[in-house]
Amino acid sequence: MKLRDNARFSTVCIHAGQEPDPSTGAIITPIYQTSTYVQEALGKHKGYEYGRTQNPTRSALEANIAAIENGRAAFAFASGMAATGAVMTLLKAGDHVVVTDNTYGGTYRLFERVLRKYQLDFSYVDTSNLQAIETAIRPETRMLFLETPTNPVLRLTDLTAACEIAHARDVIVVVDNTFASPAVQRPIDFGADIVVHSTTKFLNGHSDSVGGIAVAVHDVHIEWLKFVQNAEGAILGPMDSWLVLRGTKTLPLRMERHNDNTQVLAEYLAGHAKVTRVHYPGLTTHPQHALACRQMRGFGGLIAFELGTLERARTLLNSVRLMALAESLGGVETLISHPASMTHASVPPERRLQIGLTDDMVRISVGIEDIDDLKEDLDQALARV
Ligand SMILES: *Cc1c(COP(=O)(O)O)cnc(C)c1O
Repeated sequence: MKLRDNARFSTVCIHAGQEPDPSTGAIITPIYQTSTYVQEALGKHKGYEYGRTQNPTRSALEANIAAIENGRAAFAFASGMAATGAVMTLLKAGDHVVVTDNTYGGTYRLFERVLRKYQLDFSYVDTSNLQAIETAIRPETRMLFLETPTNPVLRLTDLTAACEIAHARDVIVVVDNTFASPAVQRPIDFGADIVVHSTTKFLNGHSDSVGGIAVAVHDVHIEWLKFVQNAEGAILGPMDSWLVLRGTKTLPLRMERHNDNTQVLAEYLAGHAKVTRVHYPGLTTHPQHALACRQMRGFGGLIAFELGTLERARTLLNSVRLMALAESLGGVETLISHPASMTHASVPPERRLQIGLTDDMVRISVGIEDIDDLKEDLDQALARV
């Protein structure tokens, strides 16, 4: 099973990093649930010494996602936050980072509550505004940390332009690509140096594993991430690696359905009298729709909309039957949530308003159920609002 260099995306998702098991021919990479490996003689082994350092199931996943993101190597971690934490060890005391202002809440917490203790400095700016990136870069800036689209207001950053600005100043670009997934957008193709993911979301896609991955292209980053993955040891276990590998095989198909279902719901909501505003890059009314068309293939599975008051949002959230009221996103089942009191509760109210996250906002991670059932569910819930 030799994957040609010009293999297309779906083929890469299924075959990259996947060799039949050498001892049995099993087509699926086994779950190598082992802590150590027997060595043939002193100093003679098969490249595997200890489970934290090397694991064949994890290696297969890392090769697979490196290819999917068009990177050169990938390193799998125990969670998305562990992956981001490892990437941040590329920096040292005194370094400064420019960050997308409404980045994932856990990322903000890691930067502000943990990494500031180590004398890293962070500026949060609206990176959809290229001038704001330019202005925020200082002589000590070493990294631009981007998220596009953002959660939950789905604001976009122009990746090509942002990378050009950063690289001209010797600043590396890290993109958290969790929200889009590589089926929708591949930041390395636009110049990004490192991509991080919470594999918990679309990459695994089945809401049954927590994990993270960092994908790199440059030797210095690859060597350091490999070293720190072993040195800090926040590795992804073999069972979870196997689950994510199962997930990536159907990523293109799942994303196609996520994209289609979300577009239909966005248009339905935009035309509904009780909905005051819809945020979705696939709508022509989205202020960055043209950029979305350039940078994304499909517009993703997340949608946010406003209902006018918190009370109306509460009624809707308590009235859905098929959609599950829950945090997280990217699974096959549709999840609905109230960002202000759930995912973004730890963000101060004035900061929430700054990024356009209002109390009447509802977010849906649209699953791959039959679209008519999803529409009927929203329809009956909106009737009660
Ligand atoms: C969930 C998420 C994370 C954190 O990932 P965990 O696997 O929960 O640690 C980071 N970034 C984004 C955009 C996420 O949605």
